[in-house]
This record gives sequence, structure tokens and C-alpha cells, in this order.
Amino acid sequence: MSRLTVIAGPTAVGKGTVVQYMLSHFDNVHLSVSATTRAPRPGEVDGRDYFFVTAEKFDAMIADGEMLEYAIVHGVHKYGTPKTPVIEALARGEHVILEIDIQGARQVKRVMPEALLVFIKPPSWEELVRRLDARGTESETEQEARLKTARTELDSASEFDAIVVNEDIAKCAHDVLDLIQA
Ligand code: 5GP
Repeated sequence: MSRLTVIAGPTAVGKGTVVQYMLSHFDNVHLSVSATTRAPRPGEVDGRDYFFVTAEKFDAMIADGEMLEYAIVHGVHKYGTPKTPVIEALARGEHVILEIDIQGARQVKRVMPEALLVFIKPPSWEELVRRLDARGTESETEQEARLKTARTELDSASEFDAIVVNEDIAKCAHDVLDLIQA
């Protein structure tokens, strides 16, 4: 049975790596590509990592009813899930994964209550700070903003259907798959 699964969790917890592991090791998994108004990071590809769009285009997608959910994340940029590819992948019988923030997770649960909401937690707060620093893709100000959001997000973990700790990527990915297939 196909299932819509939302994977959320604080910045730098390793959601992206866990999802990539799932895509390369498990069959029948489809990752939704979000639209965003933020600029691409080095190495990011339009249409693969995100659909990088202007604020005007993003607003037009909302107005056209093309967004399953959307949110302003870290107080700056807009991020949203285009609806059609999700509906089509579910119709093909695939497990659809949305890697989105908590505001988006809440919206998805409202419109699709059958969705599974999984929260990925770091082993500890110190480890989260270390991972964000090690990634080195954000300025200090941006790191601070992300950690502030992370604190609030960790407080919301109890709203999710399941919580999985990302101590080890493969283990975490298998835990998520077990939940999807349960
Ligand atoms: P980043 O800028 O690091 O790629 O992503 C920042 C945050 O935006 C992440 O926490 C990610 O989960 C969230 N995000 C990415 N795509 C979407 C989306 O389509 N909708 C929502 N609500 N959040 C998203």
C-alpha cells in the first residue's frame, strides 16, 4: 500500500542523508521535490534538490492551488510542496516522502490525516550544534537562526506519530521504513 510520509526534524539532524539512503536502498520510494525562494547552494541542482523559483512564481503557485502545503522557514524564505507530483506518485503505488518543516507537517496532517508524521531527533543538543557547524554551509547569523528554530521544533516532537533518533544513518532509515510498512 502506498503511503504519504512526512519527515521533519531540526536543522542538520541528517534528514536529507537519511532520505537519500532510503532512495538508494529501498524500492518504491519517491521523494517530493519542494519549491523554494532561497538561492541554490553550491552543487544543488534545480529540479533535483529543489525547484528554485522567484517569490512571484511561488505566490502564483499558491494562488493556483498548486501547493499541498507551504511555509516561511527560518523566518526568511518560502518553501512548499507541489501537489500534483505527490498525488501522481501515490496513484502509482509509491511511498511518497516529504522532507519538510513542522509547520508544513501540521498542514499535511490537516489535509491528509492518513499521512504518517515522523520526527527525526539528534542523539543530543550538543551533537546537533556540532553537525550544523561541521556542515559549514551557513553564516554564523544563519546558524543562530536555525538553532533557534531547532529548539522550538524539538519541543514539538510529541505532535508526531513517531520519533526516530538519528544516531546511525542506516539504522534510522530502516526504522523509518519499518514505520511506513507497519
Ligand atoms: P534548507 O534551506 O536547509 O534546504 O531547508 C530548510 C528547511 O526547510 C528544512 O527544515 C526543510 O525541512 C524545510 N523545507 C524544505 N522543503 C520544504 C517544503 O516544501 N515545505 C516546508 N514546509 N518546509 C520545507
